[in-house]
Amino acid sequence: MSKLVSVIVVGGSHAGLAVSQKLLRQTRRVKVTLINPSDEYYFNISAPRFLVKPESLPQSKYLYSIPDAFRDYPGDRFNFVKGLVTKIDYATKSVSVALDANSSATTTTPTPTATSFRFDYLVIASGSTTPATLGQSGVRLPFKTTAFEDTRKAIHQAQETLSAAKTILIGGAGPLGVELAGELAEVAGPKTITLVSRSSELLEGATAPVQRKALLLLRQRNVDVLTGASVLAAVHEAHTQTWKVKLSTGRTYTVDAYVATTGTTPNNTFIPKSFLNAQGWVNVDSQLRVLEDGISRSDTYALGDITCHPYRLLSRVPLQGETVAANIVEAIEKRGQVRTYSPEAQKKMMVVPVGQSTGAGHVGGWTLFGCLVWYFKGRDFLTYKAYSFLRGEER
Ligand SMILES: Cc1cc2nc3c(=O)[nH]c(=O)nc-3n(C[C@H](O)[C@H](O)[C@H](O)COP(=O)(O)OP(=O)(O)OC[C@H]3O[C@@H](n4cnc5c(N)ncnc54)[C@H](O)[C@@H]3O)c2cc1C
Repeated sequence: MSKLVSVIVVGGSHAGLAVSQKLLRQTRRVKVTLINPSDEYYFNISAPRFLVKPESLPQSKYLYSIPDAFRDYPGDRFNFVKGLVTKIDYATKSVSVALDANSSATTTTPTPTATSFRFDYLVIASGSTTPATLGQSGVRLPFKTTAFEDTRKAIHQAQETLSAAKTILIGGAGPLGVELAGELAEVAGPKTITLVSRSSELLEGATAPVQRKALLLLRQRNVDVLTGASVLAAVHEAHTQTWKVKLSTGRTYTVDAYVATTGTTPNNTFIPKSFLNAQGWVNVDSQLRVLEDGISRSDTYALGDITCHPYRLLSRVPLQGETVAANIVEAIEKRGQVRTYSPEAQKKMMVVPVGQSTGAGHVGGWTLFGCLVWYFKGRDFLTYKAYSFLRGEER
């Protein structure tokens, strides 16, 4: 058999898993090396539920072993590396990888804590992070994973923080802010929840009936919703263990926990600047090949949150994964079947549970009844789909 083509996938979350699994299924001619700083797949979508109601979902529903998900493949077809890519070197067609949190791995010389891997094709699926994940703004909540951190510990600490807080202000009324407010409004014990929305409606980008429904449901649950206001500053005061949150309305709130649910930053520190747009996301062409200074690279693809495409959503990942996998197979096997991807071709939807039993949502122009929001998402926050995302089977 001829030598296998080496494909390196950077990032082992939804997008990296989708492309790795689909590639391995579609061709026997590749060896996939998947690099991720945790060996667990984190189904972060359900975070608003389990961070607020720890008993509602067992960890086995949202944390999965990545190596186990590839046990069907022998070592010469698939290799998992627990590490963080720190540099791409196109002169040697290799990536440098730090194997622990202290290693900078700026050279390609192997050390006990740094190494490098050669590739024929590179897939960038390094995604994004949020201010709350990094603890940069407000309380630290693992909406995404942090490199080399024990995710279970981070989850436990966040659950304790939210459980102890009696007054909570949430800055940002997108789907995450609304979902979190809805969950918090349902937990036992008196909690005062304030949700701050920059615009005059909640859920920017949703249809008007969905925006109205979300507002109604939250107000019915005694969530104080402030529209047309934004958070100017949030400072933690160690001596009182409270947050002072200053709003654009001039009012300052003193709360036990301030939660920031806005802001998405690209995980791009290892990516050449010539691949990035002004906001730091990776430019791609219609085949999801990376654009370097506007020219498509034939050896590098990107998908998921890290690309310049709008709507950084899990629901966008399966089609992007299929596109990248098919195009790598095409590049290797030359079957004459190039796939293209267009974000406009995917249906716009938003499904936002407000608590355990209802919510607001639309699929295209169709508004969903609360019971359908419960059925599709609210009952277990999509964890019924986590395994198929892990296996790259979701379409
Ligand atoms: C709390 C929350 C709830 C959400 N709910 C929904 C929802 O209901 N529906 C929906 O459609 N979308 C939802 N989203 C959006 C969804 O989470 C993202 O679209 C999705 O995570 C994108 O997946 P990804 O694999 O591209 O990136 P990510 O999930 O960000 O994963 C990137 C991976 O790459 C790894 N990585 C980063 N840098 C490196 C490196 N240098 N080397 C190696 N590995 C690296 C990271 O550790 C991580 O594992 C939600 C987002 C949040 C934060």
